[in-house]
Amino acid sequence: MKIYADNAATTKLGRAALEAMLPVMEEEYGNPSSLYELGQRAKEILEKARAEIAAVINADPREIIITSGGSEADNQALLSAADRGRKTGRMHIVSTAFEHHAVLHTLAKLEREGFEVTLLPVHEDGLVRPAELSAAIRDDTCLVSVMYANNEIGTIQPIAEIGDICAARGVTFHTDAVQAVGHLPIDVRAQNICMLSASAHKFHGPKGVGFLYVKKGTPLINLIEGGAQESGRRAGTENVAAAVGMAASLKDSAAHMAENAERMRCIRDRLIKGLAAIPHSALNGDAEKRLPGNVNFCFEGIEGESLLLLLDDRGICASSGSACTSGSLDPSHVLLAIGRVHDVAHGSLRLTIGEDATEAEADYIVKNVTEVVEYLRSFSPIWRDLEAGKKPYIL
Ligand SMILES: *Cc1c(COP(=O)(O)O)cnc(C)c1O
Repeated sequence: MKIYADNAATTKLGRAALEAMLPVMEEEYGNPSSLYELGQRAKEILEKARAEIAAVINADPREIIITSGGSEADNQALLSAADRGRKTGRMHIVSTAFEHHAVLHTLAKLEREGFEVTLLPVHEDGLVRPAELSAAIRDDTCLVSVMYANNEIGTIQPIAEIGDICAARGVTFHTDAVQAVGHLPIDVRAQNICMLSASAHKFHGPKGVGFLYVKKGTPLINLIEGGAQESGRRAGTENVAAAVGMAASLKDSAAHMAENAERMRCIRDRLIKGLAAIPHSALNGDAEKRLPGNVNFCFEGIEGESLLLLLDDRGICASSGSACTSGSLDPSHVLLAIGRVHDVAHGSLRLTIGEDATEAEADYIVKNVTEVVEYLRSFSPIWRDLEAGKKPYIL
């Protein structure tokens, strides 16, 4: 059996996106800035895609800027709010400890430039407390940035409540919604969101394309200078086919969202129930307020990396949620942020299922994870010490 359970890392290109893109790539090669018909047709196709994207999140098409993906959208949102803050003497930013690195590393850069950043705790359940967020906002706060749903543990933040607080205090609110767009219903007006980042390859669109929603009247700076594309807010000849693929996959995801989520939640909960039966294991993040496809566990006494390699041998693609894969030996900043100690955080497993996941696949995963965890523990010195009572179990 071959099971792809790493949809938070990226998703397979969907039929809807592929079929929408092919004719554009084959025929519509015009430059949308060109005045002759071929160019103007490309422009029309691009604007139709923009309108379709806007409709899904209840935005105006003029509020959608097409970017190279989620990282670029996050950078542009944060650097724009900071630029505005610098000009108005407001040099304080509120965010959370478990943001994606596209946000955290941008905040670190802003700190080096003199900004003060408050990172809110996300508690054991992986959730921000609106009251704590409210208390952290100061007169000189220029931006609040809280991710919609976490990419490792899947927890969904109280976005509408945070939006209300920010609106009442007159603070710009950005949300990295890369894991949420196409998977959860979003209404930027009802939820008082000023800026929102999204990425097509997280909802079965092509890679290398995403968008930034910017509420009308919110000032933006350009990361890329040049021509006047994207209303002068992002230079460079537009990738029309990619934008069309993104719009098609988003429209398709939105059309089937409720039924997909319902089915995925069943499979997710079947996985959680099965894996929770492994002794000295624990689910990471709230069991209810989490993405329909996200399962994240810690298993005491093992290394996440060994677990992944052995699961790969058995046809299962998963992730450890640890930064080891990127060459660092530090455990995941997300798991540390929810209070997991280093030893436990090292033994983590993230499974992010797709819309087509089946019960049989869930059962195959549970069986194999159970066997591999048992096998790894059988020669783990840490596990031996735990079993011998030399160290207390944490989980
Ligand atoms: C994947 C991801 C990003 C980065 O998006 P890219 O399009 O790969 O640049 C940012 N934030 C979150 C939460 C993500 O999951």
